[in-house]
Amino acid sequence: MKILFVYPKFERYLKKVYAELFNFPRIASLWEYRMPPALGIQILIALTPPDIEWKIIDENLEEIDYNEDVDLVAISFFTPQAESAYRIGDKFKERKVKVIMGGMHPSMIPEDAALHCDSICIGEAEIVWKDILDDARNNSLKKIYGPVLAPPSNWVKPARNVYKIKENYDWHASLVQVARGCPRDCPYCNIPGIYGRNIRLKNMDSLVEEISELSGEEFYIIEDIIMFNSKSIAEYTKELFTKILPYKNKIFLTSSLIFNAKPDFLQLLAGAGTKSIYVTFGFDPISRGIYKNDRKVIEYGKNIIDRIQNEGIRLYAAFGIGFDEDDESVFDAILDFCKKAHIVTSEFFIVTPFPNTPLWYTLKNENRIIHTRWNEYNCSNVVFKPRRITEDKLQSGFLYLWKEFYTEIDHVESLSCFAQKQDNIEKTIEYMQKTKKEKTK
Ligand code: SF4
Repeated sequence: MKILFVYPKFERYLKKVYAELFNFPRIASLWEYRMPPALGIQILIALTPPDIEWKIIDENLEEIDYNEDVDLVAISFFTPQAESAYRIGDKFKERKVKVIMGGMHPSMIPEDAALHCDSICIGEAEIVWKDILDDARNNSLKKIYGPVLAPPSNWVKPARNVYKIKENYDWHASLVQVARGCPRDCPYCNIPGIYGRNIRLKNMDSLVEEISELSGEEFYIIEDIIMFNSKSIAEYTKELFTKILPYKNKIFLTSSLIFNAKPDFLQLLAGAGTKSIYVTFGFDPISRGIYKNDRKVIEYGKNIIDRIQNEGIRLYAAFGIGFDEDDESVFDAILDFCKKAHIVTSEFFIVTPFPNTPLWYTLKNENRIIHTRWNEYNCSNVVFKPRRITEDKLQSGFLYLWKEFYTEIDHVESLSCFAQKQDNIEKTIEYMQKTKKEKTK
């Protein structure tokens, strides 16, 4: 049997709506989608027995040969890739090649994906992948597999190096998963819906072994859970970061603003090689205060950021806009805060109601979802009716944030956290300096 794994194309991040921004030279994920692919297919490949032949296509980089002689096409994707995934599924189905879909989007809205494939794997694949392969061999694929939550003892080491990341992506960090599930209720997040509300942590020895194989390299821990301000999580993170010290990695973390910012914890993170923390602003109470220009909260937020940056860890801020409380004053409030808190690397996103998240249900019940053109669900388009601002104002405010922020800051400093292709950095700086000059004329 031969399987074709496909990671579908993303609509370029800002291409359609903002030709002007898209003409900026490339900067990591900011103007083009330059994030290395997600782990889903790497996990499936690790689970696939050696007697099965497979091929992988990252459609962001390569064309698909629809005449390829394969028995099963396995497509894993997020919501912004859904239209590409559906196009691919339809084309293979026309040829009567069996198609299975999985990943975040099909798991959240299987009835939508089911129109473009033969079978769906909802949620985690570890427990069901063997059955799927047996059924595909016997031409008896079921319509739906899962949802099943796999215990950490069933998790496998993702098959790294199956994508051509080093040759083709600006940012080369390997993705490392440490946990699944989350008990929190961030309205835009689909993690609790897919992975459940209990946190399952990866077995420490397996995780340390996985990281030891990335010795000296940069990796990105994709769950914000390890920054949670809870005793048991802090102990896990401390043990992990102590054990991986010898591997001298460059570590990139992610978090909301409510995280464990205790000095000894931050020192541990920095000492183990943490270079950047990607912090999402928008929904939590600290962000709300910052967005409302509340002086006390701004001071509090600034102190946390100072503490991080004083440890030599760069804060990479991601500001969400379009929450129900946001009005037109929010854009300048964010830019002012960036200045005050000395934030030099930032991105901005329009809050997006991914299907079947709490935010989706709220907006749907209030009849505020404008459309379901999934390729526009990429956090750079307004796909719902905002409450205190018009759709146009939200969209233009988003553009304003990008332009203002990146014409004001020191770009060498801003861009240096990415393992970028040097010519992109140089072109970007040249462009930004030109824009700045024109602005001050
Ligand atoms: S955004 Fe983070 S903290 Fe919030 S629900 Fe999702 S995983 Fe949990």
